[in-house]
Amino acid sequence: MLEKMESINVDQVIEEFETITKDAEKVQREALKKILEENGSAEYLQNLGLNGRTDPESYKACVPLVSHADLEPYIRRIADGDNSRILTGKAITTISLSSGTTQGKSKFVPFNDELMENTMQIYRTSFVFRNKEFPIGKGKALQFIYGSKQFITKGGLTAGTATSHVYRNSKFKSGMKAMQSQCCSPDEVIFGSDYQQSLYCHLLCGLIFCEEIQLVYSTFAHSIVHAFRTFEVVWEELCTDIREGVLSSQVTVPSIQASMSKILKPDPELADLIHRRCSRLSNWYGLIPTLFPNAKYIYGILTGSMEPYLKKLRHYAGELHLMSADYGSSEGWIGANVNPSLPPESATYAVLPNIGYFEFLPLQQNVEDQVLCLKPEPVGLTEVKVGEEYEIIVTNFAGLYRYQLGDVVKVMGFHNSTPELKFVRRSNVLLTINIDKNTEKDLQLSVETAAKLLAEEKLEMVDFTSHVDVSTDPGHYVIFWEISGDASEEVLKECCNCLDRSFADAGYVSSRKVNSIGPLELRVVHKGTFHKILDHYVLLGCALNQFKTPRCVGTVNNAVLQILTDNVAKNYFSTAYV
Ligand code: AMP
Repeated sequence: MLEKMESINVDQVIEEFETITKDAEKVQREALKKILEENGSAEYLQNLGLNGRTDPESYKACVPLVSHADLEPYIRRIADGDNSRILTGKAITTISLSSGTTQGKSKFVPFNDELMENTMQIYRTSFVFRNKEFPIGKGKALQFIYGSKQFITKGGLTAGTATSHVYRNSKFKSGMKAMQSQCCSPDEVIFGSDYQQSLYCHLLCGLIFCEEIQLVYSTFAHSIVHAFRTFEVVWEELCTDIREGVLSSQVTVPSIQASMSKILKPDPELADLIHRRCSRLSNWYGLIPTLFPNAKYIYGILTGSMEPYLKKLRHYAGELHLMSADYGSSEGWIGANVNPSLPPESATYAVLPNIGYFEFLPLQQNVEDQVLCLKPEPVGLTEVKVGEEYEIIVTNFAGLYRYQLGDVVKVMGFHNSTPELKFVRRSNVLLTINIDKNTEKDLQLSVETAAKLLAEEKLEMVDFTSHVDVSTDPGHYVIFWEISGDASEEVLKECCNCLDRSFADAGYVSSRKVNSIGPLELRVVHKGTFHKILDHYVLLGCALNQFKTPRCVGTVNNAVLQILTDNVAKNYFSTAYV
């Protein structure tokens, strides 16, 4: 029998989830009806001639598929202060700033109470499932979360990252309390104006409450790995702070200092304990459970572009379970991880059919359609097929209608009648010069294969990105790598050849053979270069916990290309096709 928690009724949450997923098609129709009834008076929908109809068939016939660029002029008017009904029936008062790290530039998207409500529904749903298998006791969570800078748009609307809106919302605080996942750091640390100081203090709070920590969390795996890489450098300073009860002079933000002074007291015994725990580790293996012996799991988005960080995270985690958090975006939530015991590589997300209206554009076309040059038609949530890949199209409660999110997902199975999705990749082709097409996933796999060669020298790849260099004739692929130490010339040359050979798409291979694509170039950058890229995005308003390393840099993010170019230590050209 599942117990009742402080304010989350576990049985009720599970029952609700079972109910909405049993007849997902009906729930989808109802969600669409609700969205269109609430927003039917909006200019955007009025112009499309729906005339009050709310059924999926009329909706699909009248409303076109759009990308962010199509909606940008409408969102711009909202941000500039036009408070007429543009995209929604009720005026939008808050704007989210997507991290901009996947496509190179931040996007404005509307945020409202319904999206906040969806957030809490997703959090509650995945929480009850994971708490069934990995119950957490009364305690605290070490959460590497950061409120990004908020600003006011020209029209007076509050703008900031979606996660910041969530962290500032009172429902989030009470929800987290009910889920026993209250952050061990004070708000002043979460919302501090300097993320490096906030990170330092998150670590310090984690250590002060080390016996109470039940889980370690961040939105994306990258920031957990980043936090513990930082720990490796500052751990002795943290111990000194605890021993003396005096905060490091590196922390200079007055609000952070004031809040930490209430928590930090001289505790030589704790400092010794942490020192002993760290000293017995070999190369920091198992750091997280050693520091936090009562932690039950590590939680954060671990799939998609976070996969390259799993190896390092596993190293820090030792035997501690890694659990992927849910699937969503600044544009809205999609699915909850209701199979928490699966390893991150197999994690799936069950779509919650009442939080939006979802369509799926098949990526594979059948042969007849290809011959007739027919474009594939999107299918409904319950019409998707197991094993197939689709691009996801979202209609949400905040003014996005048939919006192509830019993500590719694969259907792995069903929970009742709602699909369980695996995140595959962003949909855009990253690397292309002529007939070659390589996606984010192709790049990730090539890098993964080549990086294995570094293990021979006990080195690891810290981070990577790519660039298409067409300033040479013929153009060629450039891969930027940051490595944990100095690799030998021999291994790096081998890595470069391996990268070139690992791009297996027929277009690339044939172009390389006839030299219509030049030899791949590996550019090794100095240590800390990717940290500079992170700083660059944070300055632009991205929150550390929403950061995703851009996997291809070029025309849209020239500043990042400049940072990389300025920091190249060595470069190699492949001889794989000579
Ligand atoms: P943003 O709104 O800019 O912070 O990023 C949202 C994007 O992050 C999504 O469109 C996905 O590409 C990616 N994302 C979000 N959740 C997951 C997940 N669980 N697994 C993999 N990628 C994810």
